[in-house]
Amino acid sequence: MIEIQNIYKSFGNNEVLKGIDAIFEPGKVNLIIGGSGSGKSTLLKCIVGLHDPDQGKVFFDQQEFTEMDFEERIPIRRNLGMLFQNSALFDSMTVEQNIIFTLNMFTDMSQAEKIERANFCLDRVNLKDVNKLYPSELSGGMKKRVGIARAISMSPKYLFCDEPNSGLDPATSILIDELIQELTEEYQCTTLVVTHDMNSVMGIGDYILFLYQGQKFWEGSNEEMLRSDVQELNDFVFASPL
Ligand code: ADP
Ligand code: MG
Repeated sequence: MIEIQNIYKSFGNNEVLKGIDAIFEPGKVNLIIGGSGSGKSTLLKCIVGLHDPDQGKVFFDQQEFTEMDFEERIPIRRNLGMLFQNSALFDSMTVEQNIIFTLNMFTDMSQAEKIERANFCLDRVNLKDVNKLYPSELSGGMKKRVGIARAISMSPKYLFCDEPNSGLDPATSILIDELIQELTEEYQCTTLVVTHDMNSVMGIGDYILFLYQGQKFWEGSNEEMLRSDVQELNDFVFASPL
């Protein structure tokens, strides 16, 4: 379980997050939705420690992450898989080397074990015969899959995906959603998916947090969202690009 309490974050005079509370449950896909610039990526970065919140606390399984130093955070980071916005693969490395990079950071596996693990993860996301290719040789959907393969390489307890569907056609987008859902069940991980495009994730969220003007404007289930009469939420949900 991940819990966040009263998270504030500003950049200069720009107050991006104004006191966000939420509880994200394990074995579930938790969605953070909101328009572009509403602070979704910033919130994700505050949770994983890429940004320090100005105020507030983050707990991973009851352990306060925000008060830990770099060394103390390592066991949690080892359990955390992240798919970055735009996949963020290293262009100068092959697909296999991209995954091995993560294994090098957190394991002392032999080279043979790392290669085996990398290829197991690629297989798991239904990628075949791409291990020796470079990211520039892949389609957008394939890059997302490599990003997901890298994110699951450490069998994560926490899986974070920032805009997993951006730039994908609707059919590929559905496959990526299904994969995220399957992996969440398989690893029983606490999954956080950030998106500005509601159409791309319709149906996968167990819990939804709607960010608006730096605040948690609404939270609930998928069904509740569709029945909601909150104007700002409806405007967002029904104005999403197809
Ligand atoms: P979203 O992911 O919802 O589109 P972001 O979290 O990326 O939104 O950005 C929210 C706001 O914070 C935007 O106004 C953006 O310009 C600002 N912002 C994000 N990251 C930084 C940064 N590193 N430095 C300064 N401003 C930032
Ligand atoms: Mg973003």
